[in-house]
Amino acid sequence: HPQILRSSNVFMRVRFAPSPTGYLHVGNARTALFNWLLARGQGGSFILRIEDSDTERSTRTSEETILRDLRWLGLDWDEGPDVGGPHAPYFQSQRLDKYRDHAQRLVAEGKAYADEGAIRFKVPAGQTRFDDLVHGPGKFENEHIENFVILRSDGHPTYHLSVVVDDIDMEISHVVRGDDHISNTPKQVLLYEAFARAVPQFAHVPLILGPDKKRLSKRHGATSVMEYANRGYLPEAMMNFLALLGWSPGAGDKELFTREELVAACALEGISGGNEGWKQAKHDWF
Ligand code: GLU
Repeated sequence: HPQILRSSNVFMRVRFAPSPTGYLHVGNARTALFNWLLARGQGGSFILRIEDSDTERSTRTSEETILRDLRWLGLDWDEGPDVGGPHAPYFQSQRLDKYRDHAQRLVAEGKAYADEGAIRFKVPAGQTRFDDLVHGPGKFENEHIENFVILRSDGHPTYHLSVVVDDIDMEISHVVRGDDHISNTPKQVLLYEAFARAVPQFAHVPLILGPDKKRLSKRHGATSVMEYANRGYLPEAMMNFLALLGWSPGAGDKELFTREELVAACALEGISGGNEGWKQAKHDWF
């Protein structure tokens, strides 16, 4: 797989798509960082998209915090909030018409149906397969997937619909995201197929765990990028630490990398499929 990536002529378009419902979690920062490193290393584009279609949980403060902390870490984006781009707007709350149109199209084609004011996708019989650049091929039996809601009765899309419509519209070539989304992927692949569009390459990167092997949370200590920034950690150190958490750049024992060296070394091939433990002492060392 990595060879395909390296030698492919496909212009790499990757994205980070945070939901502005809280602070920038270090695990999400690492996902953003991998996307950014890949785009910068392969001459591709890094797109930032704000997934704020859940208007009850999304806040402006959270959105501003996330942008600020991404910038603190040293990440910039080629398209997205503040910078704009050919696929604007980059806020899902401003793209609701697109989701409704797509849902209606599926209804018109008999691939979705109205159900108590909502619209459900009609899951076809058979199997759904997709390749994952980190985890390898996956196969799911469609009979285990229920006819899922794509548009709620209030006219707002569910995550599955909005993410697929936007990734198609924004011409995303590689979906690099946390592996908590693996179980969502079959539904999204079904939507790509329903829209008769090519499925992007998926790469699900492992989550960060605490010392007790549970998903890293506040119980384990600081989990927001902002807290480390406030405590005086250097962005270069944090970037170096996050990059090497679950990724081996294949440079032997070398651990200290400049931003440019990380960009030059980054490829999906070194990312391990196993979940990584957060090692605070190592972070301090960096
Ligand atoms: N808004 C979703 C999240 O923050 C995006 C997931 C995705 O990258 O598809 O988990």
